[in-house]
Amino acid sequence: MGLLAEFGELFLPRRCAGCGRENVSLCTACLQLLGGIPRAMEPRYGTIPVVGIAEYTSHLSHMVVDFKDNGRRDILDPLALGLARSITAALEMTHSSSGPVLVIPAPSSQRARRRRGGSHTAALARRAAELAPELRLHVVDVLRTRRRRDQVGLGARAREENAAKSQFLDPGTIGELNRTKAAEAGISILVDDFATTGATLAESARILASVQIRPAAAAVLGLGRGGTRFVSPFTV
Ligand SMILES: [Zn+2]
Repeated sequence: MGLLAEFGELFLPRRCAGCGRENVSLCTACLQLLGGIPRAMEPRYGTIPVVGIAEYTSHLSHMVVDFKDNGRRDILDPLALGLARSITAALEMTHSSSGPVLVIPAPSSQRARRRRGGSHTAALARRAAELAPELRLHVVDVLRTRRRRDQVGLGARAREENAAKSQFLDPGTIGELNRTKAAEAGISILVDDFATTGATLAESARILASVQIRPAAAAVLGLGRGGTRFVSPFTV
């Protein structure tokens, strides 16, 4: 971000990225959404459990969209801390609380990558790694999408078809993936902003299996109601 844009950020009137309330980056109520008790879901698709820290609500959705599409860097840290909490819970659930952890972000659309200069999920994961160094997260942004319609408004079957064969491994990043895997033979976790049926995450896991990477769990911010059931509530 250029200097002018930095100044612009200072002088723009702020609105809560979640609910639109004025003069605050994130109001207390919306910030509390990111501090919820982690929960796990058995997704409709795929076999890996998905952990989230909040229910997928419109306020949470607004936060992520504001960060992703409107350049709201002021909420990077709260979102990244939320993701770090979700990853921590996912590690506890899979009984692998000591790192290192290979973190694979879900792919953003090519259009979004170009506009933002990278994947917003990867940006969140990298910041989570900085804010929670004790977790020893190694983020490798290797997944790409070919073409992906927006998942919003699609039924469960359409989501599955939409996700199928829509992802691939970036050839330029596979070397980094192999080096990280060889150096740090820890567990792998998928991360994304939201999960509903788990179709996108299941496709990511399928693609990664082709290079012998089998994520133990997925960690997201918001969990939708598309899963079969909630499992093992955490006692934290
Ligand atoms: Zn708010």
